[in-house]
Amino acid sequence: MPAIKLDGKALGATMRGEVAARVAARAAAGKRPPGLAAVLVGDDKASQQYVKMKHETFTAAGCASTVHRLPAETTQSQLLDLVAQLNADPAVHGILVQLPLPRHIDEGAVLRAVSPAKDADCFHPENLGFLAAGFPRFYPCTPHGVVQLLTRNGVPLAGKEVVIVGRSNIVGKPLALMMMQKPGTSNPAACDATVTVAHTRTADLAAVCRRADVLIACAGRLHVITPDMVKPGAAVVDVGTNFVNGKLAGDVHPAVADVAGWLSPVPGGVGPMTITMLLYNTLSAAELIDG
Ligand code: NAP
Repeated sequence: MPAIKLDGKALGATMRGEVAARVAARAAAGKRPPGLAAVLVGDDKASQQYVKMKHETFTAAGCASTVHRLPAETTQSQLLDLVAQLNADPAVHGILVQLPLPRHIDEGAVLRAVSPAKDADCFHPENLGFLAAGFPRFYPCTPHGVVQLLTRNGVPLAGKEVVIVGRSNIVGKPLALMMMQKPGTSNPAACDATVTVAHTRTADLAAVCRRADVLIACAGRLHVITPDMVKPGAAVVDVGTNFVNGKLAGDVHPAVADVAGWLSPVPGGVGPMTITMLLYNTLSAAELIDG
C-alpha cells in the first residue's frame, strides 16, 4: 500500500487560516497587525521568489509586510544600519534577512544584529540557546513545520526512534533538539523521541536509517534516501530541495512511497509549512511585544 501523504500544502493552508483568525481578533481589539520586514540584498532569482511568496502569504493573512530591496554592492555597515532601524520600528515585529547574503557580508554578524525579540526565523544564538535549554521563545521555522506536519497527521513520536540525516544549524540540529526534548507548557512542540543525527561521517547510513520509526532527510542531496534504507511503515519527511532540470526534487527517492507508512512530497510537503511557521512566529512576536 502506498504511503499516506503528509500534505504540507493542505496543512499549511489550514494553519495560515488559524493565524489569520487570530490576527483578525487582534485587529478587532484595536491592536496593530503583526508586521514582517524582509530584507533582500542583491538579485538572486530564488531569493526574490522566496521573498515574494512570503510577502503574499503575510498580506493574505492580514499582516503588514514590507520588503527592503538593497543592491548587491550594499556594504555590511549599510545593512547593519537598516537592521538597527527595523529593530527600533514599533510596526515591525518580525525581521527576516533573506539568505544567502553576498559574499562580502558576514552573515553571522548580520543575523546576530537582529533583535532576538524580532527574530522570526529563530536564527539568533540567544533564541537557539533558549531552545536548547528547553524554554523556546520561538521555534525555527523548518523544524517546527516538520513537527507540525507529523503531529497533526497523527504520526506517533513519543518514545519512537527518530533519525535525522543532516546537522545544520537551521534544520537538523534544532530539529534534533525539538524531537528529543520533554514537552511542557514552555515547550509545547517538544516530542519525547529517541534521536539519532546522521551526517557525512556516519558509518553505514543505510543501517542507521533502517532503525527509524521516523526518518527525516535534510541533507540537500538528491534521492540520498532509497527504499532499502527505510523500515516498512516508517514515517519519512523530505526536507531537501534539489533542482533537476529546473524542477524541484527531494532527498528521498520516489520509490520510498512503496515502503513508508507516511511520506511528505517535494514540492508540497515541508516547503509550505516553513513559510506558515514564519507567519506563526511573527504573530507570536507581535503578541510578546504588543501584548
Ligand atoms: P546544509 O547546511 O548543507 O547541511 C546539510 C547536512 O546534511 C550536513 O550536516 C551534511 O553533513 C549532511 N549531509 C549532506 N550529504 C549527506 C550524505 N550524503 N549523507 C549524510 N549526511 C549528509 O543544508 P541545510 O541548510 O540544513 O538544508 C538541507 C536541505 O534542506 C537543503 O536541500 C535545503 O535546500 C533544504 N531546506 C528546505 C527548506 C524548506 O522549507 N523546504 C528549508 C530549509 C532547508 P556534514 O555536516 O557532515 O557536512
